[in-house]
Amino acid sequence: MAGGTILLVEDEKNLRKLIKTYLEREMINVMEAADGREALELWDTDKYDLVILDVMLPEYDGWTVCKRIRRDSYVPIIMLTARGEEEDKLFGFDLGVDDYVTKPFSVKELVARVKALLKRSNHQLLTEVIEVGDLKIDKKMHQAFLDGKPIDLTPKEYDLLLVFLHNQNQALTREIILDNVWGYDYYGDLRTVDTHVKRLMKKLKRMGKQIITVRGLGYRFEVTN
Ligand code: CA
Repeated sequence: MAGGTILLVEDEKNLRKLIKTYLEREMINVMEAADGREALELWDTDKYDLVILDVMLPEYDGWTVCKRIRRDSYVPIIMLTARGEEEDKLFGFDLGVDDYVTKPFSVKELVARVKALLKRSNHQLLTEVIEVGDLKIDKKMHQAFLDGKPIDLTPKEYDLLLVFLHNQNQALTREIILDNVWGYDYYGDLRTVDTHVKRLMKKLKRMGKQIITVRGLGYRFEVTN
């Protein structure tokens, strides 16, 4: 059973209802929005495990909604694009979109991708050891290792590393990082993030090069393989 609650944003009513029916068969709750404004209203009032977002929407388009969501969350996002919008994908990856489905698509395939993403994010939350290359983080021990040797990180640097490892290859805004490491109620400067990222990169040595600056947005922990 997949479980979870999804925000489904699609203005074509028939398609929306069809997707909803398929998802509900998997025991997934679906909240529907028919335009960008409604999507953001729902986003602000509830918590979701995943967002399915059409690009072409009335009111605000999918990119605007995506940007706004990424300001305060790294919830998995699947974009529904039309043929010919493929060039936009690069832009979308910078915004931290997790997956794309090009219309027309099979709803079964979309559901399969939803389930895979939900499973991945659950797994990442539950798993106790994360390994990326020569970098290892043991959550039970609250300790990071490089080449098997403990890295001396402050609690904030450790939390920051964890946010990067949980969100590999996703662009994270400074706001998201700040919220996730320092908490929503932290009243601070976004430059705090830059200072800590710089320090973390230094401590991670060669692995630190995998933290890439995303211009005008924030950072991305890049993992290739
Ligand atoms: Ca549409």
